[in-house]
Amino acid sequence: MMKGDFPVGEFAGRKTPFYFYDLPLLERTLDAVRREIKDRPLWKVHYAVKANANPEILKRIAAAGLGADCVSGGEVRMAFEAGFAPSSIVYAGVGKSDEEIAYALDIGIERFNVESTAELLVIEEMAAKMGKEAPVSLRVNPDIGAHTHANITTGLAENKFGIYHGDLEEVISLALACPHIRFKGLHFHIGSQILDMADFVALCNRINDLTARLERKRLPAGDLNVGGGLGVNYFHPNHLPIADFKSYFNTFKRHLILRPGQALHFELGRSIVAPCGSLICRVLYVKQGTTRQFAILDGSMTELIRPALYHAYHRIENLTSDEPEQLYDVVGPVCESSDVFDKGVSLDACRRGDFIAIRTAGAYGESMASTYNGRPLPGSFFFE
Ligand SMILES: *Cc1c(COP(=O)(O)O)cnc(C)c1O
Repeated sequence: MMKGDFPVGEFAGRKTPFYFYDLPLLERTLDAVRREIKDRPLWKVHYAVKANANPEILKRIAAAGLGADCVSGGEVRMAFEAGFAPSSIVYAGVGKSDEEIAYALDIGIERFNVESTAELLVIEEMAAKMGKEAPVSLRVNPDIGAHTHANITTGLAENKFGIYHGDLEEVISLALACPHIRFKGLHFHIGSQILDMADFVALCNRINDLTARLERKRLPAGDLNVGGGLGVNYFHPNHLPIADFKSYFNTFKRHLILRPGQALHFELGRSIVAPCGSLICRVLYVKQGTTRQFAILDGSMTELIRPALYHAYHRIENLTSDEPEQLYDVVGPVCESSDVFDKGVSLDACRRGDFIAIRTAGAYGESMASTYNGRPLPGSFFFE
C-alpha cells in the first residue's frame, strides 16, 4: 500500500497509536504461500502465532488452511479459540509448564516439539497419568548460525533451544521406549529475518547428514519440520510487499532429501504478517534541538519495541503532509533513551496532529506490546 492509499479520512477521531492491518495484502501473501506448495500434499505450513496473535489475524490465517505453531500454552489456547483445528497445532518451547502440557494433551494437539530429555520424561509421565498418547517431534539444535542479529539466532550449539545433534540417537531411542510417547519426527528452527538462502541450504545439508546417519543406525527420523525464519524487505514496503516465498520453498525442493511418504512442515511467522501491518501514530510535537529536530510521536517502544530492542529498521512515512521533506529524529514519549524509531529520517514536513505510518510492523509488533509507563495497549484497524 502506497502512502496515498491509506484511508487517512477514516483515521480522524480514532485513538492513536493503533495497528493498521491491510487484510487484502495478508490474503495475497497467504495465496503466494499456498501457490508454492500446492503440488506437495505432504508439505504443510504452520503459522508462528508469536509473530502476531491478534484474533482477527489468526482467524484469517486459520481460514486460509494453515496450521499453527505455538510457543506457550497461552498461544495454543489463542490458536484453538481462533479456529485452528487442534490437529493442526504444534507446540515448541524450552520451558513448557505442567499446566501447559496438560492443556495441550487435553485438546489433542498435532504434536509437541520437545526440546530436552527432561521435558520428554515429564510429557511421558503426564500422558500416562491422563491415559493419553503424546505425539512428539524432537527439536534438534543443528548448530548452524543464521546471518542475522545475535538475539534472533536460535540454532547454535550453545543455545537454550533444542537437543544437541550429537545426542539425537540416544534421545530418539528413549522416546521410542516411552509407552505414552508417539515419536513423530524431527524439528529445527535456525533463526529469524533470514534473507540469505545459503543459511537454509546449510540447514538442508545438516538435516540430510542427520537423517542418513539415523538410517545407518536403523533409527527412524519420522517427518521433518524446518521451522521458520524467512525474512522480509523492511526497506521497500511499497515495491516488495510479499516475501520471496518462491526462493524459500525452492531451496527446500532442491536441497532437502525427503523419503517417500515423509512429510515436511514449515513454521513461518514474520514473512506472513510483517508486511500487512503499520503502526499509525500522530505527531504530538515538533521540537527543535540545537543541531537536530525531533518528531515526537504518541506511539512508542511499548507498541513497537523492535527498533529499541534490536536497532531494527522500519520505513516511516508522513501520511498527512505533502510539504517538502525535512530531517527528523522520530521518537516516542516513553522515559527511555532507546525509545527512538529512527534518527535523521527524511519526512514530508511534520506538524502537530499529522498521521505517521511506521511500516512493516505486522510481525513482533502488537504481539510484543507492553503497558510500560502505564501506557494502554494499542488498538487495531482492519482495512478490508
Ligand atoms: C519464532 C519461531 C518461528 C517463526 O519465526 P519467523 O522468523 O517469524 O518466521 C518458527 N518456529 C519456532 C519454533 C519459533 O520459535
